[in-house]
Amino acid sequence: MREEKTYDVLVVGSANADLTVRVERRPGAGETVPGTDLVESAGGKGANQAAAAARLGARTALLARVGDDAFGELLLAGQREAGTELRHVLVEAGARTGTAMIVVGPDGDNSIVVSPGANARLLPEDVEAARDVIAASAVVSLQLEIPPATVRAAAETARDAGARVVVNPSPAPDRLDTEVLTAADPLVVNEHEARHLTELTDGTPEAWARALRGQGARSVVVTLGAEGALTLDAGAAEAVAVPGIKAEAVDTTGAGDAFTGALAARLAAGASLAEAARFAVRVGAASVTRPGAQPSYPTLAELPPEPG
Ligand code: ATP
Repeated sequence: MREEKTYDVLVVGSANADLTVRVERRPGAGETVPGTDLVESAGGKGANQAAAAARLGARTALLARVGDDAFGELLLAGQREAGTELRHVLVEAGARTGTAMIVVGPDGDNSIVVSPGANARLLPEDVEAARDVIAASAVVSLQLEIPPATVRAAAETARDAGARVVVNPSPAPDRLDTEVLTAADPLVVNEHEARHLTELTDGTPEAWARALRGQGARSVVVTLGAEGALTLDAGAAEAVAVPGIKAEAVDTTGAGDAFTGALAARLAAGASLAEAARFAVRVGAASVTRPGAQPSYPTLAELPPEPG
């Protein structure tokens, strides 16, 4: 019997206000182009993954830092709306909340500049103080928008406490800390991150997954945009291709986070890696049909049907 935990998913990560403008054409260096009215919404990889898991009904908590400014309020409101436990979000007096400046092009693809703000002050001490919360979580989900020492502390603490660790190495680092890599079960990468970490620029998704497992990840998931995903489980001889689901993409911002939050939620519920990825592909597909990151995330009732 599985031990009963307080949380299905604990996300240790970033919270950013997303400031989004859509453009007809991306500006080149030194160029100015007109855009639409500014839209402010709750984002950041950590906050996004927590919102995705919570909105799907998983008992979810977020360990993050925001400032006591209007953007911090926006972040807290986004998590409240999704149903995330907020008591582990640390509100820092006088700090600026992290901010992401997002330009969405006509194809729905995005370019992003991140100002870390309070995320840079989520420290290993905060992880230490949350040791009991980590031990009380089935899955701990990590990304790389907080200091590397904090990610490492969270990975080690979670692994030692017997929590399953999901690692999304994004933004792509030049080198992933060995402790973080070997705790990852799975490592969740998109094509860009897979290429960057394996240095296999011409590889196939299966070759990337095998290389990343060879580097030490326990299991690997490669997300493939509209094409879906590929999983390579711990010890599995064969990779599993999970087909994409056709969707009218209006804004792909945060699709990868929707996928990872959903994957973590399903793994916490006891699903196999391939089953969890099948579910996460439906969540990712639903998220691209609406604008924004968190505001685009579906509830269970809003998911497209399972294919086949
Ligand atoms: P982003 O950086 O935009 O958040 P990502 O590059 O990290 O995304 P992707 O591999 O592009 O991650 O997408 C994650 C998941 O979202 C995919 O596995 C798929 O389920 C879904 N998805 C993304 N784009 C599309 C699309 N155009 N049509 C259908 N599903 C999509």
